[in-house]
Order: sequence, then C-alpha cells, then structure tokens
Amino acid sequence: MSGSYDVVIIGGGISGMMAAVALAEKGRKVAVISKGDPVCCFSTGCIDVLADGDDPLNGLGSLPDNHPYHLVGEDAVAKALELFRDIMSEEGMPYVGDVHVNRRVLTSLGRSKVTCLVPETMEFADFDPDEYIHVISFYKMKDFYPQYITSRYTNADYSIFDPGVITTAGIAEKFENRPFLEKFIFWLRDLDIPEGRIAVPAVLGRSLAGDVYHQVSAGCGRKIFEIPTMPPSMPGLRLFGGLKKALLRKGVNLYWGRGIYSVEKLGNRIEAVTLASAGRTTRVEGKAFILATGSFVSGGLQAFMDTVTETVFDLPTYLPGSRGTWFNDDFFAPGHEIEKAGIRVDSSFRPVETEIDNLHVCGSILAFSEVMKHRCGNGMAIATGVAAAQACGGLV
Ligand SMILES: Cc1cc2nc3c(=O)[nH]c(=O)nc-3n(C[C@H](O)[C@H](O)[C@H](O)COP(=O)(O)OP(=O)(O)OC[C@H]3O[C@@H](n4cnc5c(N)ncnc54)[C@H](O)[C@@H]3O)c2cc1C
Repeated sequence: MSGSYDVVIIGGGISGMMAAVALAEKGRKVAVISKGDPVCCFSTGCIDVLADGDDPLNGLGSLPDNHPYHLVGEDAVAKALELFRDIMSEEGMPYVGDVHVNRRVLTSLGRSKVTCLVPETMEFADFDPDEYIHVISFYKMKDFYPQYITSRYTNADYSIFDPGVITTAGIAEKFENRPFLEKFIFWLRDLDIPEGRIAVPAVLGRSLAGDVYHQVSAGCGRKIFEIPTMPPSMPGLRLFGGLKKALLRKGVNLYWGRGIYSVEKLGNRIEAVTLASAGRTTRVEGKAFILATGSFVSGGLQAFMDTVTETVFDLPTYLPGSRGTWFNDDFFAPGHEIEKAGIRVDSSFRPVETEIDNLHVCGSILAFSEVMKHRCGNGMAIATGVAAAQACGGLV
C-alpha cells in the first residue's frame, strides 16, 4: 500500500514512535516504517534519563559538549518526558516518578539499577537491603532465582508458586485469566508473610498489567512491586505495545516488518523510499523524513573491519579512531569508544556534511549519545524523538 505523508519516520523504536506521536498530535499525516521490533522490548521498561547524580536533569549540564541532550535542552527534555507520561497514561500504562529524581530499583540479580521513571507496577521497587522483603517466584521459571535477591538482603525470604508454565510470557498471559489470578491471590494471602513489601518478577500480565497489579495488591492488602526480568522483558514489551497502540489511535500509518529497499532523491530533498517486500513494491512519499533506526543492535549502524556505515541513506558517520581503540580491554567497563559512533547533526537534528534539507535524525543512532556509558537510553530516545519532530514539524 503506497502512501504520501507529511512526515515519514524510518525506525519504530522509542525515538521514532515518540516523534510520530508528537507530529500526529499536531495534526500531521505520519507514517512509521520499521524493519522489526525495537530494543526497548529487551529493556526493563524503565526510563533512564541520566544515571549520574540525584537529579538527572540537573546532571545534563555535566555531559560532554557534543552530547545530543544539549541540542534538546533541559526544559525540552522535561517536556518530552511529560508527553511520554501522558501518552502512557492514556494507554492505561501510567509511569510514576519525578523527572528531577533518580531512583534505585531492585534488579533480578539482587542489585540496584539507577533509573528515573518507572511503570506503576514498580512504584515500590526501591532498593533497600535493610528492610524486610518477601520475594515470590514461580516453579521452574527460567532466569529468575530468588536466592540472588535474598542473599543480598539482611532480612528476606521467598516462596514459590506453581503456575503450570515456565516462561515469562507464558506466566504473564496466565495472569490475565481470572481463575488463575484468583488462585494466585488466595495462595498469596495464605502465606502469612511478615510485614514488608512483596516482590514479584515482572509477569503480572502482558497488556493488562495495571489491572492485574491492582487486583493482586488489593487482594493481599500489601505493597507489591515487579522486578524486571531478563529478556524477553514484559515491562519492555508493554512499553512498546503502549506506544504502538497510541500511534494507531492517533492515526499514524504503520509499515511494520519492512526494511528500506531504495531511496528517491530530487535535488537536495528525499522524495520517497521504497519498501522491501516479497510482492509489489511499496512507495512511501514524504515532505520530510526522520531517521530513527537505532544503533548497531537494530541495524541502523553497521560495523566493518575499520569503518561504520549508516544503512538507509549512507550518511557520513562519525567513527571514533581506528578499530584498535573502539573497545576497552575490560568488556564490562563503561565507555567503550565505539559507543560514540553515529550521525552528527546540527541544531535542527539534520545530518551534517550532507546536502539533504528534509531529513532529521534522532535516537541512539546519534553520534556521541553513549547510552550505555551515561545510562540514558530511553530518556535520550524520547527527548531527541520529540525534538526532531518539532524541528521538522515546522517545515511541513
Ligand atoms: C538489553 C538492553 C537493555 C536496555 N535497558 C534499558 C533500560 O532499562 N532503560 C533504558 O532507559 N534504556 C535501556 N536500554 C537502552 C534503550 O532501550 C535504547 O537506547 C533505546 O530504546 C533506543 O531507542 P531507538 O529508538 O534509538 O532505537 P531502537 O530501539 O534500536 O529502534 C530502531 C528501530 O529501527 C528499525 N530499523 C533499523 N533499520 C531499519 C531499516 N533499514 N528500515 C526500517 N527500520 C529499521 C529497527 O527494527 C528498530 O525497530 C537497553 C538497551 C539494551 C540493548
């Protein structure tokens, strides 16, 4: 199905989807083309804005001068995060937290992770190893071991429920079944757990997590919270599902599961892209384009022996030195130089050193974003997605 749009967004990750939402809210006709599902499906579903310091927004000033957050500005980052929260609330998946406050939430390894906004199912997930905590696990559930958590707490215990299935997604689906949910709540009530919070791996429903969470909390009259699990991550999938629902509700056209086959240019402008498909070709025309194809994980960037290329428009790509300097010897050390690779943009999020006037770039494909080092992945994707939308929205 060919089409003509005000703005065509290539890449359906958080940055591309937030750009689409922002443009659709301004009445623009928008399409999102995505080769596959985004990285946020593997994430905790939490919105990391910037891990350093107590106030992530205040910390933006200490980032290197070339970090993309500086192009957005503190006020606009805060507004973009508020837009994200509004959208997720409208979709029945509210996020809690204060954009000026970092929090430490408990992880499935019994450690803490710094983040900012969290799904409501993690509202009480703050890490406090001195407070009593009771962990619920599920019989034979893969990749979740309550002992990891209890061993790091001075006073903690766990209990195991048998859901009859062993996968994260399978258990989450079961929670959306009323008799199963009631059986679980009765079981939980009968445990006679000492005062304190109750932690459950993030399996409390797939798309109906809010309902399930409130019913479990009310059913046992205690503070319950979810712990994000290893991928596949239910909170990450819910985040993706919520944004996708918002796009559809706002009339955004989705071309999903399709990569770009060819690009049509006329002078300094991109006129259209053609989508790869088994049958007829699909031509998608736009007045403006936003590139949001992500970094190496999603295939927006591709690394070869000594080069890195951008895979849709073959844009000039910043490369930090030669391959020998890309990685630290210690794999787990933060700040591998290769994380700086990406597309450099001007203050309107247009790629530098190109002759193209109607292309803007956002998200983790941006040069110098270093999302792992600064732990700013979803926050930066939201902020630059909305900023790129504003930059091109005025032109169409
Ligand atoms: C395992 C893991 C866990 C993480 N956990 C967290 C976390 O807990 N909190 C946090 O804040 N951040 C986390 N991050 C980082 C964060 O999720 C990402 O930085 C952010 O979601 C990136 O969003 P994006 O929109 O830039 O790109 P992506 O999510 O990478 O999306 C890019 C999209 O573009 C599509 N695409 C690529 N090439 C093409 C093409 N040629 N044509 C069409 N479409 C194309 C891809 O299929 C993909 O859907 C995590 C990252 C990873 C890898």
